[in-house]
Amino acid sequence: MAAKHHAEVAIIGGGIMGCAIAYYVSKAGFDCMLIEKGDIASGTSSRCDGNITIVDKDPGFDSKMSMVSQELTVDLAKELEIPFEYRPLGSILVCDNDQEMEAAIDWVKIQNEAGLKFNVLDRSDIKQESPFFADDIPGGLECETDSLINPYLFCYALIDKAKQYGLKLFTQREVTGLAKKDAFEISTSNGEFTAKKVINAAGVWAPFLGEMLDVDIPIKPRKGHIMVGARQEPVMMRNVMEFGYLMNKFERERIADEETQKHGVALVLEPTESQNFLLGSSREFVGYDGRVDINVIRTMARRAMRFYPKMDDFTMIRAYTGFRPWTEDHLPIVSEVEEIPGFYIAAGHEGDGISLATVTGKLIQQMISEEETIIPVDPLRFDRFQKVTSS
Ligand SMILES: Cc1cc2nc3c(=O)[nH]c(=O)nc-3n(C[C@H](O)[C@H](O)[C@H](O)COP(=O)(O)OP(=O)(O)OC[C@H]3O[C@@H](n4cnc5c(N)ncnc54)[C@H](O)[C@@H]3O)c2cc1C
Repeated sequence: MAAKHHAEVAIIGGGIMGCAIAYYVSKAGFDCMLIEKGDIASGTSSRCDGNITIVDKDPGFDSKMSMVSQELTVDLAKELEIPFEYRPLGSILVCDNDQEMEAAIDWVKIQNEAGLKFNVLDRSDIKQESPFFADDIPGGLECETDSLINPYLFCYALIDKAKQYGLKLFTQREVTGLAKKDAFEISTSNGEFTAKKVINAAGVWAPFLGEMLDVDIPIKPRKGHIMVGARQEPVMMRNVMEFGYLMNKFERERIADEETQKHGVALVLEPTESQNFLLGSSREFVGYDGRVDINVIRTMARRAMRFYPKMDDFTMIRAYTGFRPWTEDHLPIVSEVEEIPGFYIAAGHEGDGISLATVTGKLIQQMISEEETIIPVDPLRFDRFQKVTSS
């Protein structure tokens, strides 16, 4: 019989959460291993955009958490040896109509009062961002501190450094069983493992790991589509979302046509470092069906043309989908499960996982080190959902 691998801390899932946790936990000196069913970044973290944003966060705890994550990412851009296409250029939101423009002005005011670097952009500012924008866009807003990364490279850069700090990496191992005895016993498709502490960083698959320990984790997959544009004329340098994106994300009322509403479509355009561009996106609850839906693509293309009519002869190369790990209150779960000491969840970041990976990694490291945390963690506790169910 093959020997069991043992480590003090086992992280399950090698997406951006697992990789950030692996980095901070290994750096803090813990004996740590990461177990991943496929390869690093083979889940949602390679099927997404790469925006590290505050622009789309609710003012308050949500934006504070993102701000801390942005600050940690600045440090990592200096420390990690593999470059991950970090571009701190800020990001913008554009408005479709005067009504949205009024709401955008209010949004900037609220964010400024919270100490965040937001500015209103008028029609001429928008024109300077890209020659491809429609002439009738009334304006928008910018968040100066937002940045862009390549999430796939970021995962590999974190793992590379974590390995230097002693991380043991096990890919192509699907966790098939989890039990708590003196230590956690972890069965996989290729070997047995034990650990004193287990971090469930399995994104939309976190509930399946929870089930193995009779823990009900309320995360649902919220599917998103993205199209990839061919490298041609540079479209613009920084990330753009439309104001309606906020309405979709937070499930608020929005004025848009039926198809746009049905598929939860709102414009997001991300220029990659090599000047391809990623055009999105959609938001739907359709289970774990990852097939590209041509109706969604058509709706997204139509929405993009509203803002970029001059791009109508641009070539698109392909489309892909990913699953956002959604929770009901739009905040992730970064928490120990009280009934099972030593079992932690770091999942449920919906469309914010790239933005919140570093702060999540740091928080988990601080929790297992029993240190004071960098931000208060009460809003992220797992038992907030248990309280809702039992009341
Ligand atoms: C279209 C789209 C656009 C997005 N754009 C942005 C953006 O611009 N900015 C932003 O902040 N966020 C964005 N997001 C959200 C972000 O991508 C996710 O929140 C984030 O990738 C989740 O990371 P994760 O590590 O929790 O999950 P994942 O990346 O899915 O990682 C979980 C890992 O666990 C592994 N796993 C699962 N089950 C097991 C098992 N039994 N055993 C072993 N391993 C297992 C999986 O293989 C996977 O690799 C976007 C998402 C989508 C879909």
